[in-house]
Amino acid sequence: MNLVVMKFGGTSVEDPAAIARTAAIVAGRVSAGKKPIVVVSAMARVTDQLLRCASAASLGDRTGALAISSRLRCRHPDTAAALVKDAKESAALANWIDKKFDQLDEVLRGLAAILELTPRISDLIVSFGERISSRMIAAAFCQHGICAEHVDSRDVIVTDSSYQKAIPIDAIIEKRAAEKLLPHITAGRVPVMGGFIASNEAGITTTLGRGGSDFTGALIGGAMHAESIEIWTDVDGIMTADPRVCPDALRVKTISFEEAAELAYFGAKVLHPATILPAVKKNIPVQVLNSRNPSNDGTRIISLAPHCQSPFKSIAVKKKLSIIDLVASRMLMTHGYLKEIFTIFDKHQTPVDMVSTSEVSVSLTVDSNDKLPQIAADLSQLADVKYEGKKALVCMVGEDIRGQNGMAAQVFAAIRHINVRMISQGASEINMSFMIEEDDADEAVRSLHAAFFQNPDPTVFDVEARKQLVTPGP
Ligand code: ADP
Ligand code: ASP
Ligand code: MG
Repeated sequence: MNLVVMKFGGTSVEDPAAIARTAAIVAGRVSAGKKPIVVVSAMARVTDQLLRCASAASLGDRTGALAISSRLRCRHPDTAAALVKDAKESAALANWIDKKFDQLDEVLRGLAAILELTPRISDLIVSFGERISSRMIAAAFCQHGICAEHVDSRDVIVTDSSYQKAIPIDAIIEKRAAEKLLPHITAGRVPVMGGFIASNEAGITTTLGRGGSDFTGALIGGAMHAESIEIWTDVDGIMTADPRVCPDALRVKTISFEEAAELAYFGAKVLHPATILPAVKKNIPVQVLNSRNPSNDGTRIISLAPHCQSPFKSIAVKKKLSIIDLVASRMLMTHGYLKEIFTIFDKHQTPVDMVSTSEVSVSLTVDSNDKLPQIAADLSQLADVKYEGKKALVCMVGEDIRGQNGMAAQVFAAIRHINVRMISQGASEINMSFMIEEDDADEAVRSLHAAFFQNPDPTVFDVEARKQLVTPGP
């Protein structure tokens, strides 16, 4: 059916110029005979600002909260006015946006009176970002000659009630997608939906977690059996490292689902970690593309990537982690001890990233969070506990690392000037990770990149872009 899901992130819809570029990209797909379903994020920085509004209101700062909301209220109709030239359309849209901000302000005033920000209210507040952007972008698309139709994602993406990180219910989503999206597609219309937002079965707004618009795109792609899922962002694709940290990072041309999932989970922000799941289930290729450089081929994520000469494909970093060290002689020669430890993490619903054990001690790493003192108190029933924040996990991803002799020696030689706190290799054939101080993380990535991406395999990495970077001008 030529169905393609196109997801555009915050920077791809940040202002009228970005939205016009996005419209041109979608129009290009329509002219090429494709049937796009478009998923958009809130305009860049809007989600952060809505969270700041919510936090200010919950601390009783009603004026501060309403001031942030008022700045957002101006930004949206200004964008709409620049994009929608038809006076009647433009006035109707401005009026609709104003009503949404009236509703938001009402919630903020209520919150400033109650002074309690529940996860459910937080989801309601942040949802305004995608609700407004998607409606506005659908109108802008129509002005650019695309036959676009706004669809409220909350009618399609149905989840459980775990607010702020809700779990999608695939069977309902598939049914809703057929009801709410298919008729538009068959009639030649382009549905435009907000990412990230969803609702539970009772119709109450939920969200899929920060960065969750990628996940929405993948869920829609899976439910509609799309031929591809395109993630449009502000970089040329998945790179060998975060280009903000490592400016000479190279584009990875093709990567496997497994490698991309590992990178996303271990901190490569370019992709939400759950994005790969629906794509794998239905074997739908995912493409990461740059809306500022649409002619670039981006990165193709497929089930089996071609063999690569270089040991690693990319380096990811996850910051804001804590290490918990447990020491107990009780552990010596006993069984069931680790089970008791993990029961405590389970009770606090806190996932553990890395574990390392010795005869009488265990070290674990978790996201730094406000549950840590309570977790430590519970763990102290079992062992002496110490925990320390400001740690980072560096994760090197590449195919079959386990099968290559001397790889660990090369990795640790490249960062010999940096103190390594924990190491993990072997759990996965494609990932080698270690824990360091957060302040050392950027330097570690640059050193590793310099050591492992000197002579990259041109079949897998875009080496042409590097040549252009280093070729002196006339
Ligand atoms: P969007 O708003 O489009 O969803 P994000 O900000 O969530 O975009 O993700 C894109 C950003 O991810 C890039 O600007 C880049 O700084 C960061 N990033 C981190 N690791 C990588 C990587 N390995 N490859 C590409 N980008 C990366
Ligand atoms: N707007 C949401 C966020 O900033 C979701 C997304 O953009 O993916 O987290
Ligand atoms: Mg993102």
